[in-house]
Amino acid sequence: MATISIKGETIMLEMARPLLVNIAMLFSVLFIWNMVMPFTRASSINLKEKLIYGAISSVMALLCMLFPLEKFGDTVFDLRVVPLILVTLYGGKLPGIICTLTISTGRLWMGGENAWVGVLIAVIGFIIASGFGPYFRRAIRKWKGILFTGGVFILSYIVILILFLDPLQSYFYPIYFTAFMIAYFIIFYLTERLVMINLQLQETVYLEKLSVAGKMAAAIAHEIRNPLTTIKGLLQFISSDTEDVKVKNYAPLMLEEVERTNKIITDYLMLIKPTKDNYEQVDLNKVVKDTTALTEVLASYYNVKIHYEEKGEFLIWGNSQELKQCLINLIKNAIESIEGEGLILVVLQYGTKKGTVDIVIRDNGAGMSEQELEKIGLPFYTTKSKGTGLGTMITNRLIRNIGGKVHYTSAQDVGTTVTVTLPIIKQ
Ligand code: ADP
Ligand code: MG
Repeated sequence: MATISIKGETIMLEMARPLLVNIAMLFSVLFIWNMVMPFTRASSINLKEKLIYGAISSVMALLCMLFPLEKFGDTVFDLRVVPLILVTLYGGKLPGIICTLTISTGRLWMGGENAWVGVLIAVIGFIIASGFGPYFRRAIRKWKGILFTGGVFILSYIVILILFLDPLQSYFYPIYFTAFMIAYFIIFYLTERLVMINLQLQETVYLEKLSVAGKMAAAIAHEIRNPLTTIKGLLQFISSDTEDVKVKNYAPLMLEEVERTNKIITDYLMLIKPTKDNYEQVDLNKVVKDTTALTEVLASYYNVKIHYEEKGEFLIWGNSQELKQCLINLIKNAIESIEGEGLILVVLQYGTKKGTVDIVIRDNGAGMSEQELEKIGLPFYTTKSKGTGLGTMITNRLIRNIGGKVHYTSAQDVGTTVTVTLPIIKQ
């Protein structure tokens, strides 16, 4: 017993050094990789990126194979499967396959009687990771997916070792698998941290864009609005009692354009008054119900039905006027996305996160592609000939001001779902 524990300790110390080297190695590649192509949660990566992902993870796996944790005869124990699982979970099947092929080729080239076991383990790791992949990429919190994938893989790994290899000393297994798990979790933790940092940076840049647009608005909007009112008034006056055909024909168009200019300015002005002193306790049910009723008129004009549903009573902190403006913006976008008959579902329900409420607005309109989805909320981004590209941006801004978030999911030709999540007041 004593000898076994001494052996265990020596082997643990012996393994600590290569373990650290491996983690440092994996992380430095990860870090450089992130510097060149910052990790985000982009839901689609293109072919070129997938190939690069595959290549870099292959390099990581080969480095691991170059510095194994332990070697018994021609059986090699190292961390090559960690980058394989990592790239398959984050990047999908293709990079995973590339990495699996590299590992297999590398292992077969190294040779030895048990090389095929190494190949089998890599293939199993790939199959498990690509099985969990879709769930992992969809999940908001990633640790569950990381835990499950790691757990299932290690169990399969142990089963394969027991089935196909001559047993090694029993103390080796817990030490190796502990080392494996430590490396696995550290690498995933670091990757998640890098993703979070990048997302925060993106958010900061976006907020900065909002505030620049807001300041520009402050400078221009006020100045333009007054002369515009004069123009509008005079135009109405002139066109009301004239015999001039040209004036009669073109006045409505001119008025329409003045109206449009006015609307753009009004939208802008919403941006520059993010004051918090007019915040109060708001009955969200009433606000959402009122807004739905308000937009129903517009909707019926477009042959669109709006269905409202509430699952609970919610009080929030904010400004009901601003909230209405936000909801109108979102519902109007939903209406405008629908061609022909359509249905918009507005649901008020408890949020998935505790202490929050979700306002879900689902339409069966044109939907958006991944590229369009990335641009939504940027100042002046619009696909409509008469759009301002300010609606979603203002909505985002107002919702953020009261501690909320706006989230979009969309599929082309299927429809769009907008979820506004707000913190509720505890009673
Ligand atoms: P605007 O409505 O003036 O175009 P928005 O900021 O409200 O500006 O919207 C920006 C763009 O986002 C729209 O032009 C449209 O392409 C897209 N969009 C917004 N909401 C939806 C939706 N529910 N369905 C499809 N596309 C949408
Ligand atoms: Mg709009």
